[in-house]
Amino acid sequence: MKEKSLYYKESGHIGAMGPVIMLLVGIIASGVLAGIYGFAMFYIPFVYLNFILTVLFGACIGMVVGNSGVAAKVRNRKLMLLFGALFGLIAAYFSWIAWLFAASEMNYLVYEPLEIFTVLLEASKVGIWSLFGSIVKGGFLWSIWIMEALIIITAATYTAYYTIRNRPFCESCNEWLTSTTLTSRLQAIHNHNELVLALENYNIEELTKLNVCHPDDLIRAKVTLHHCNSCQELSCLSVDELLLSVNEKGEVNQKEKAIVENLIINNSILLQLKQWCSSFI
Ligand SMILES: [Zn+2]
Repeated sequence: MKEKSLYYKESGHIGAMGPVIMLLVGIIASGVLAGIYGFAMFYIPFVYLNFILTVLFGACIGMVVGNSGVAAKVRNRKLMLLFGALFGLIAAYFSWIAWLFAASEMNYLVYEPLEIFTVLLEASKVGIWSLFGSIVKGGFLWSIWIMEALIIITAATYTAYYTIRNRPFCESCNEWLTSTTLTSRLQAIHNHNELVLALENYNIEELTKLNVCHPDDLIRAKVTLHHCNSCQELSCLSVDELLLSVNEKGEVNQKEKAIVENLIINNSILLQLKQWCSSFI
């Protein structure tokens, strides 16, 4: 996909109170969620469930931090990445305080980093839980703990970033554009480059010639419009490829890959696209 001024570009502005709001919300969310997570990890002895909880915990931190940034009108992906990673790390640290508190039957609140490390070092020598009948300890236990922290940080970073990934902002009106998914059931687009080139030349026929996909199709396309409801002067078009997969339990997973991301369009094209979609939905 080409990088040109045809596309919306974020201004990078972080708002007057953006970082302050994100810091406040991030620290409260990290404390509360880490408390719940730390206790849940201590009392739920199922490895598979623990893994899901770890991913969810990191994603929740990222979602709260990211959405606080959106509310504070932060349109800077780098700041979202930074705060996502920062609070992922803080949340992982807080979760250790909560876990040790739960493990001591709520008798000891250990919160200094060196003290936590010392307790964990002692615990790792004897092992604290078993996997497939053998006690997990030493280097293997440390590698699991490090992996757990990395999962939390990665999930928080990705989720915080994702909250503004495809979200244009109208600088004139000082507000986010409203996003509307026109369709997520469009047939697969075979030649991405051809579509991008046509749309960049405002030839929307390459898109509007496509029909609704078959219900069993695993590759589809999604069309999203973004529009400023205040000035009615800024609109963007995004087209994503959806890759669906079905696991052995019959659960459907979906991945999105951007084909066209926030191409600026005029109101005439906006109207044509809306009319096109309303004809088959
Ligand atoms: Zn506007």
